[in-house]
Amino acid sequence: MFETLSDRLTTVFSSLRSKGRLSEADINATAREIRVALLEADVALPVVKDFIAQIKERAAGAEVSQALNPAQQVVKIVNEELINILGGETRRIRFAKTPPTVLMLAGLQGAGKTTLAGKLARWLKSEGHAPLLVAADLQRPNAVQQLQVVGERAGVPVFAPEPGSGVGDPVNVARRSIEQAKHAQHDIVIIDTAGRLGVDAEMMQQAIDIRDAVTPDDILFVVDAMVGQDAVNTAQAFMEGVGFDGVVLTKLDGDARGGAALSVRHVTGRPIMFASMGEKLEDFSVFHPDRMAGRILDMGDILTLIEQAEQAFDAQQAEEMTQKVLKGENFTLEDFLEQMMMIRKLGPIGNLLGMMPGMGQVRDQVSQIDDKDLDRVAAIIRSMTPGERANPKIINGSRRARIAKGSGVTVGEVNSLVTRFFDAQKMMRQMTAGMPGMPGMPGRR
Ligand code: GDP
Repeated sequence: MFETLSDRLTTVFSSLRSKGRLSEADINATAREIRVALLEADVALPVVKDFIAQIKERAAGAEVSQALNPAQQVVKIVNEELINILGGETRRIRFAKTPPTVLMLAGLQGAGKTTLAGKLARWLKSEGHAPLLVAADLQRPNAVQQLQVVGERAGVPVFAPEPGSGVGDPVNVARRSIEQAKHAQHDIVIIDTAGRLGVDAEMMQQAIDIRDAVTPDDILFVVDAMVGQDAVNTAQAFMEGVGFDGVVLTKLDGDARGGAALSVRHVTGRPIMFASMGEKLEDFSVFHPDRMAGRILDMGDILTLIEQAEQAFDAQQAEEMTQKVLKGENFTLEDFLEQMMMIRKLGPIGNLLGMMPGMGQVRDQVSQIDDKDLDRVAAIIRSMTPGERANPKIINGSRRARIAKGSGVTVGEVNSLVTRFFDAQKMMRQMTAGMPGMPGMPGRR
């Protein structure tokens, strides 16, 4: 799910990486590409429109950031807006003050209600609750039996009309289940209701009757994320019919485009509460908008790094470094070490540098140095005399041997460090895109 969207967004962002700053034309082009990506992923048009309007407005008015370059800022904005359309905060179940809490499931046949009932029951049980499953889907042949099977797998009892009692009245079953729950001290009742292949008046009325009989604390609309645009129409029909408090997305393990899932919250104003992604009872989770947005952007690491960069970025240190470079002062081994230490503070080196304009090559340099190596590099540099650090050109063969001995490494390692330093020095001179936040350089507005 969401792979195509992820891929497309990643492409959009990577084309921004080389930009020092974003012009209005850049922002418009980026917005256009994001729009196409969303539409192709099946996101509903009104949602796309609002989304793009937000992105444009925020990108144009983006505050000058010390820590983030334009590409990172766009990623940050898109991420925040995705979280926004997915509902912002994680919405939890509204537990009743006096038990039992009543949850009612509604949705089309095949949406995954019965499976979800089992998943929900299993999860609630693991959270220390004592749920009761209620078979109020008396429409579909075998629905009761299916619920009994999932109930058994979840280790949760099922309340169902007695066999042989005829079809029974689902409203009555639901009502009696509440008494049973009180009697047997279940603190949560999960009512599985009937669905049809399409929305119809009779089914909706039945759901309304059940709702009125048991006044659920939360009605959950269960929707198959694979059905595309139709999900939005169905959601609207249920909203106008029985109404609901939250949405459950099922079949997120499918390979559909998933945009409908992104639209439901925006179109109905109801939060997505749970996600179901497989046939096993464990394939279930509380829905966290921020995590889902991270998954869609496929940039979990980058987003964390952006956060860290904002926290760890030492503005003053960067400023000093910048001034040095701008004044054409020598970029020394001391600076090299200082830079590496700063980069290390930011976390996984390679990912972060890849996001900075013009830093691709530096990344290749630095990513050859992992954290353990960094200590050795620091030791080597500290074994040099101040003169050598300031002017590494004077480090000849005998000096290399002395430094290697002093820092407990091989001459080869000293050589490789010196070579890398010269490469870095060369790059510092060429680097016109600059590090984010460098005054007077294109990286800053
Ligand atoms: P109901 O008619 O709404 O009660 O839907 P069911 O619970 O019977 O589910 C319909 C079909 O979808 C069944 O074959 C389920 O095994 C399958 N199903 C339900 N949830 C998921 C899911 O998250 N992922 C996948 N792949 N299949 C699911």
